[in-house]
Amino acid sequence: MKNPLLFPSASPREEPRAGDASRPEADYPDHVFRKLLLEKKAEVLMALALSFRRLAALEEAAAKDPFQVLHEEILALRANRIFYGKLRHVEAALERLDCGGYGTCANCGNPISAERLYSIPWARHCASCNVSSVSNAPPEAG
Ligand SMILES: [Zn+2]
Repeated sequence: MKNPLLFPSASPREEPRAGDASRPEADYPDHVFRKLLLEKKAEVLMALALSFRRLAALEEAAAKDPFQVLHEEILALRANRIFYGKLRHVEAALERLDCGGYGTCANCGNPISAERLYSIPWARHCASCNVSSVSNAPPEAG
């Protein structure tokens, strides 16, 4: 029995059937991943903005110990590098969502599990290829 109040967005002519596992991606459609990616992008951009604000404040703190300032600048620039890397991954994933190829492993061509994409929406590799590529492959080719 179907209660329409429990399935407000479900298609009116198709009832969800137990055992209908032919479309596992139906649990996480593209718009879910797009939303997750856009949220991550906003989060990274916010972190970058805060980091730049901190760097600017360090520049103005001329009276501070110059070695301390230098140390904090190095830490902030290192953090920025990580943020930029993440931003690049997120933007590449958004592009794959638009142009095709999203959710397909860049190494073996197998589909990346929806669970993996849900936890790492910018993932380019399936779980098994990610494990084997961690030690010997560059993080991004190009
Ligand atoms: Zn793979």
